Amino acid sequence: MNEEFSKEELLNLPYMNSNFSVEERVKDLLSRLTLKEKFKLSAGRQMWYTKPIRRLGIKSFAMHDGPHGVRVDNQGKTQSTYFPSAICRASTWNPKLSENFGIAIAQEVRDVGAQMLLAPGINIHRTPMCGRTFEYQTEDPYLNKKLVIPVVKGIQSQRIAACVKHFICNNQEINRFTINSEVSERALQEIYFPAFKAAVQEANAWSFMSSYNKINGIYGSEHHHLLREVLMKNWGFIGFVVSDWNATNLTSSTESCINAGLSLEMPMQQKYLPTKMKNAFDKGKFTEEILNDNIKRLLRVMFLTGLFDDESTLPQGSRNTKEHQNLAREIAEEGLVLLKNEGNLLPLNMEKLSKIAVIGPNANLQTYLGGGSSTNFPPYEITPLKGLQTKCEGKIEITDTPANADVALIFAGLKHIKGMDAEGFDKNTFNLPQEQIDLIEKTVDENSNTVVIIVAGSPVSMIEWMEKVPVVMYAWYGGMEAGNALSALIFGEVNPSGKLPITFPKYLSDSPAHASKRTYPGDENVYYEEGIFVGYRYFDSKNIESLFPFGYGLSYTTFVYENLRLDKEKISGDELVTITVDIINSGDCSGAEVVQLYIQDIVSSIERPIKELKGFKKIKLKPGEKSNVMFTIGKRDLSFFDENSRSWKTEEGEFNILIGSSSRDIRLKCKIEYIN
Ligand code: BGC
Repeated sequence: MNEEFSKEELLNLPYMNSNFSVEERVKDLLSRLTLKEKFKLSAGRQMWYTKPIRRLGIKSFAMHDGPHGVRVDNQGKTQSTYFPSAICRASTWNPKLSENFGIAIAQEVRDVGAQMLLAPGINIHRTPMCGRTFEYQTEDPYLNKKLVIPVVKGIQSQRIAACVKHFICNNQEINRFTINSEVSERALQEIYFPAFKAAVQEANAWSFMSSYNKINGIYGSEHHHLLREVLMKNWGFIGFVVSDWNATNLTSSTESCINAGLSLEMPMQQKYLPTKMKNAFDKGKFTEEILNDNIKRLLRVMFLTGLFDDESTLPQGSRNTKEHQNLAREIAEEGLVLLKNEGNLLPLNMEKLSKIAVIGPNANLQTYLGGGSSTNFPPYEITPLKGLQTKCEGKIEITDTPANADVALIFAGLKHIKGMDAEGFDKNTFNLPQEQIDLIEKTVDENSNTVVIIVAGSPVSMIEWMEKVPVVMYAWYGGMEAGNALSALIFGEVNPSGKLPITFPKYLSDSPAHASKRTYPGDENVYYEEGIFVGYRYFDSKNIESLFPFGYGLSYTTFVYENLRLDKEKISGDELVTITVDIINSGDCSGAEVVQLYIQDIVSSIERPIKELKGFKKIKLKPGEKSNVMFTIGKRDLSFFDENSRSWKTEEGEFNILIGSSSRDIRLKCKIEYIN
């Protein structure tokens, strides 16, 4: 203990040898750390780093934000690829793109010399008012899980740690440091946990970030039950928990964080100030064994990410490559959602137009800056206007007067500022700014060929003008290639295939979280009284018409669904049923459809959602092409969380299998029976 080593001796220590297994290396290194050094490793420094321990050759472990690109500094000295917002990536319903995104962003992390990315953020969209809606994926636990798995796998395939955040129920920004989310066990199990659990059990995530808020009375960073019992013991998490930045501030004590399993306090020592740790230790408030477990988890990830290994043996990094930029564009192209296309005004035909008007506050707005920790600095960002100018150059004139243009394109929406789509605050209104509504209405009066393109990271109210406008698209924040992606869609080079990962309510008061002040935004407490009825589960059960439902999105072509078949009509125990459906592209251009499978429990002993997403496949078809899509469903897909027995339960009886193009456009239906 506490031995000094020469450089050569150090290199010959067992934990430095990559031929040993990670667990052997962890064990060896842990046995050499003094108590003081363990204290030192428990807290960060300089925003993004752990403290080095030179005696043992432990370098600083570096971690950076964020979910849409790597940000090393706040001035943009280091540039990186700006990928579309997570909600846009989720709208692709394409897990492969999420995997490729994970790989690419991890290559950028490696290239800046760091070991961990502070992403993905996967909090459930409980309300469209959350300032970080754009940073998160969806309102649905199944879609959330199916997209987080490939992101984490992609990132970690490069031996970069993913840090899945924010655990858990950080579903609003108002009072985020102090609020207590009061949530039922069933809602946790059915809605809020599944993606986090899958990140552990199906993608082996190496790190979790605890949330600022309290969950049922206890702060995320000192939540013994959630961290030690649920995450570590029940789910089998092998990685480490890091606090959200300064989240330990309000926690009750040093020992409560240590005992709960918080390995790393960021960005600096507060509760984990060595003197405080020593004091608590001397008083017997925590044991060295417990601390060892926390440190072991951190060391494990240091080894997994190659912190002690020769860089030439690790996957190589790369940054700002054409490949990554093309991927950003591909995600934007697949994530953009066509909401309305009356008279098939889109796609525009280059040959038939001479003049288009491009107007609105978001037409030439760059969006990389201002959202909070998800900001990153790309070498360029193609705005919608820039993308259109490039596409139209020498062919079509672009003007800013709709009256005498063939078509008017209005770019409206939000931006990353306080009160809109930004971290730290929730949105202060569900409406678009009044001047944008006025602009939309005035433009349609002047030019009936008006296309409204909303650039925003969360649903906004559109009911006032939706009827009057023939074409509406939701472009989200599409990353650095947004303008190129948009113009490819507008001119039909790419056929839209995005589907909404969140319900668009007609009125905010229709939303489940907006029943009362207690349910949102709360005060000290926010009560999740809607329970499991989040998003479409609520709209379905209350029979409320949304403006656009979950899973909705149009294409320039049409799809026919037919010939739904099952390989059996009854299953028992762990048997699986295979469901097959034929999909035909019945229009005249190539396109992709997201075929969705929902399950409906016909009779249940407790209240269940009318339907729940349990499968989806994105399929690309040429005009006239027919192909089949297959799903397998088992007992688990039919189950609910039973609070009495505290376990998942599948009741005997009949279940409808609903196959559709959105949660409200069910095309085919059949029944299966489950027998225990
Ligand atoms: C955010 C995290 C982020 C961290 C570091 C916090 O305020 O909630 O998502 O990773 O800051 O920037």
